[in-house]
Amino acid sequence: MLEPYLKKLRRCKHVDSILYYDLATLCGEEGISDEGELMDYLAGEEAKIYSDPGFVKAVESGLKEEKAPPMEKRLFSSLYNQVALLRKMPLEEYLSYRNAISKSNEMWRKYRPANDFKSWLPYWQHLVDISRVVADYQHKDGMKSRYDSCLDSYEPGESEAMLDSIFNPLKEKLIPLLKKAKEKQKGYSLPEIKPYPVDKQEQMGRKMLDLIGYDMKGGCLMVSAHPFSNDNHQHDARLTTKYLVNDWRSNVFTCLHEGGHCLEFQNKPQNLYDGYSESLATAAICETHSRFYENIIGRSKEFMPYMKKAAEETLDPGFSYMNEEDFYHLVNKIEPWLIRCEADELSYCLHIIVRYEIEKELINGTIECKDVPALWKKKYKDYLDVDVPNDKDGCMQDTHWSEALWGYFPSYALGNLYGAMIKEQMEKDIGFASLIEKGEFKKILAYLAEKDFAYDYLSPDDWIMKITGKHLSSEAYIRYLEKKFD
Ligand SMILES: [Zn+2]
Repeated sequence: MLEPYLKKLRRCKHVDSILYYDLATLCGEEGISDEGELMDYLAGEEAKIYSDPGFVKAVESGLKEEKAPPMEKRLFSSLYNQVALLRKMPLEEYLSYRNAISKSNEMWRKYRPANDFKSWLPYWQHLVDISRVVADYQHKDGMKSRYDSCLDSYEPGESEAMLDSIFNPLKEKLIPLLKKAKEKQKGYSLPEIKPYPVDKQEQMGRKMLDLIGYDMKGGCLMVSAHPFSNDNHQHDARLTTKYLVNDWRSNVFTCLHEGGHCLEFQNKPQNLYDGYSESLATAAICETHSRFYENIIGRSKEFMPYMKKAAEETLDPGFSYMNEEDFYHLVNKIEPWLIRCEADELSYCLHIIVRYEIEKELINGTIECKDVPALWKKKYKDYLDVDVPNDKDGCMQDTHWSEALWGYFPSYALGNLYGAMIKEQMEKDIGFASLIEKGEFKKILAYLAEKDFAYDYLSPDDWIMKITGKHLSSEAYIRYLEKKFD
């Protein structure tokens, strides 16, 4: 009964995903607006399915099925969230919300390179206004704020109160640890970072992807201003990267990050696809795997010989003269600065906490968009000791806020916390560090596929309990950072 609808929804998502990839990589400036309209059209088609009486009836009766297996239960509750929204929100209003997203994102693409916050502001404020209305429609019993509704759509069961209880102590730990690590670093000899052309950097990125087990036959690598990955389909997990001629590390860690996402898409068990449950993993669960490959593996001491060898073969044979310790310090250089995507491991969560604190206030209505640039500058100074010279590399740097992804940013930091917990468990079960040392990346991937990806449809709490037997906390992550940087 439900299957024909799920098939249609999957097809809509597939086409939407291809359009999104095209928009970010190939589409010319003149085509952006039309392509945005195509995506709005698809959103309308999806909305029709979610309000179709036959579909609604099937979802409601599925929800009542108490004996249903956990995967089905999660599928029904996630479908119901959208049904419930469209039941409360008139279709026309929903479509104007979708249109506000396309417009705001289109204008962000246009005005960000020109550092023109003022011209983007009316489009963004309109999107924020309508997002607050959507958050009100999404309100459920027990939620204490609009931002709680936003969080619920990414991480069911999460709330501002819970995130405050994790992020506040983490912030208190990170700020002094960062200062201390910067001091300690003065004693290292840090080799200079030489420029390398794009074609060499591309070869290096492809080598890294191959090493961790990314299957290029079921994927694609292109360039976009803001790198991302998407699971178009079971056999099509694509990523993008960007090349900084003067810093080859950016592309390498982007490939490891986005490649980490794709490994999850490419290695989910078939039963998730058969049960239309391949897209139930929350943002934090997805970011766990990307951050795991980027940092916990990619920036580990044990991984250095592999990365250094790839650098020798692709970027510069001169890397063979660099000692391994120096290479390790080079890729782990503590350098708090403006951009989140290229942040070192220690500053990263502070970039997220800045965004979390601002978007929470913005959605709850205690500040407006016009207040964001100044607040952004103040927090960067207070937490990272970084001066922000413009909005382009300040509050306009990420695509998320232009697309109404309120509540997404915390998932990156949570991904770090989950990743450290999984690393500790893996160490106990199969000896994580020695596997990297021996280059047994297939074994690591097989472990993740069996213990983790196979259950990524569960709620975050059930999922992490299943893997580690523990609830989420920042303890393992703090242990990990202190061991590495203190
Ligand atoms: Zn990611």
